[in-house]
Amino acid sequence: MMMNVQLTIPTMMERAEKFFPKKQVISRYSNGIKRFTYKEIGKRTRQLANVLENLGVKKGEAVGTLAWNHHRHLEAYFAIPGISALLHTINIRLDPQQIAYIINHAKDKVLLVDDCFLPILDAIKYHIPTVEAIIVMTDEESVPATTLTNVYEYEALLKTGSETYLFSTDINENDPAGLCYTSATTGNPKGVVYTHRSIYLHSMALGLADTCAVSEQDIAMPIVPMFHVNAWGFPFACTWFGTNVVMPGPFFTPKILAELIESEKVTIAAGVPTIWMGVLKEMEEREYDFSNVRSFISGGSAAPRGIIEKYEKKFGVPFVQAYGMTETSPLVMASVLKSNQQALPDDERYEYKAKQGMIIPGVDMKVIGVEGEVKWDGKEMGELLLRGPWIASEYLNDERTTDAFHDGWLHTGDVVTVDEEGFVKIVDRTKDLIKSGGEWISSVDLENALMAHEGIFEASVIAVPHEKWQERPVACVVLKDAYKDQVTKEEVLAFLAPQFAKWWLPDDVLFMEEIPKTSVGKFLKRKLREQVLEQYQS
Ligand code: ADP
Repeated sequence: MMMNVQLTIPTMMERAEKFFPKKQVISRYSNGIKRFTYKEIGKRTRQLANVLENLGVKKGEAVGTLAWNHHRHLEAYFAIPGISALLHTINIRLDPQQIAYIINHAKDKVLLVDDCFLPILDAIKYHIPTVEAIIVMTDEESVPATTLTNVYEYEALLKTGSETYLFSTDINENDPAGLCYTSATTGNPKGVVYTHRSIYLHSMALGLADTCAVSEQDIAMPIVPMFHVNAWGFPFACTWFGTNVVMPGPFFTPKILAELIESEKVTIAAGVPTIWMGVLKEMEEREYDFSNVRSFISGGSAAPRGIIEKYEKKFGVPFVQAYGMTETSPLVMASVLKSNQQALPDDERYEYKAKQGMIIPGVDMKVIGVEGEVKWDGKEMGELLLRGPWIASEYLNDERTTDAFHDGWLHTGDVVTVDEEGFVKIVDRTKDLIKSGGEWISSVDLENALMAHEGIFEASVIAVPHEKWQERPVACVVLKDAYKDQVTKEEVLAFLAPQFAKWWLPDDVLFMEEIPKTSVGKFLKRKLREQVLEQYQS
């Protein structure tokens, strides 16, 4: 038998303080770069934990954060679970009613807020009765004027806490530690509760050589917001492993990101494909030294093959696609090639790299098609089911739980194929799949092909109703500046024609200025569909 040691978050911070006191958390603010060592971060985290306890936060109660990626947010990541409370990272891009909904649903007792988000709270202040105190995280001299009550300034409050405060020892590894709400493309957001154990094991998975291989040797930059599935777990894993972390802070542009990657010698960075498209455009316009980069991780939606190839072949930057969702902590798949796949000719290699990859150790999958489990032939489509120690088993107090969780599996709502190597390819979300005359057309495949076109910056393919075929694909395309008004519908269709069966080709190609995006930078197809239908009707 082995020791039954509890897997808890405070032990991760304790390790950083003890073994990596000089390693750094580097945050970009509008007024410059700030550097803190893990020794300092550890002390400040203990002070914050003490402060929260003094404010009356009890075991199991939720503390919300409305904040960008920076060192204070990282302190909250450890201080809140450190007193056995629940770290509720609020997606600041949800609309104010939804923010009020989740603050109430989570029963947040205290909120930690960046000064720039105070107006959001001002707008909903009469609708969040559970909130007893608001702590403003600011890098300015003083907190902006506000009509909110019980407002404290982070740094002033921190001084009232003890640097040697001891984290709670009353933590069971299955206690709740974190809470994230899905970004709500339909209905109200759904809450997913992470436990100490799930976060601990998921962090370990980020360090595996065949996933993201995060290690002490790295300088890691989580670009994905800390309010989006815990920045994919990077803040937890990096602290635990003693990795230097670069936090891009508020309101960044591709230029700011590229400059940070260069100046801070970033080795690994994580973001959604729209971020990587922007950075790529920047790299094509200006020269940057990215020689330290060993991996750009992309997830959240499909990274088009054209982009992966360009990063690797044109700029020599290794690019890895990963897959996950709020319900899965998120990492469950990574497109890291096996040795036999690495030896393949380029064309086949990139075919694999553009897939979402293989299920990582610790997680189990099943793909269910119309007639049970699908064949691993890369063709038969089915819904992806997942289970594992960092996969949710329910939504927090939500009757929609049974839609997604039954028979011991999470039903992801993602339609996929699996090939003979066990590589999974997301064909679509069930709701975005285009059902044309009883056959399925993958919007993702068409989008990937479109975005490989030299003149196309972004493309999204949606289903529009059709009298005869039920639904037909329509492509919405944003051209690169240099190609504006230079590319025609006929040219786009001719470009796609050799790659797809005739009936897959879009019925129309619409050129647009931009594609509406969700709160985390994914294409917002529901809105796009509304816009297109409106355009057709007028
Ligand atoms: P929401 O469900 O609100 O969009 P999530 O961030 O949890 O918020 O989104 C998870 C979904 O994102 C997955 O179910 C899948 O459809 C999509 N997704 C995530 N990673 C990838 C990827 N690498 N390729 C394609 N789709 C992805």
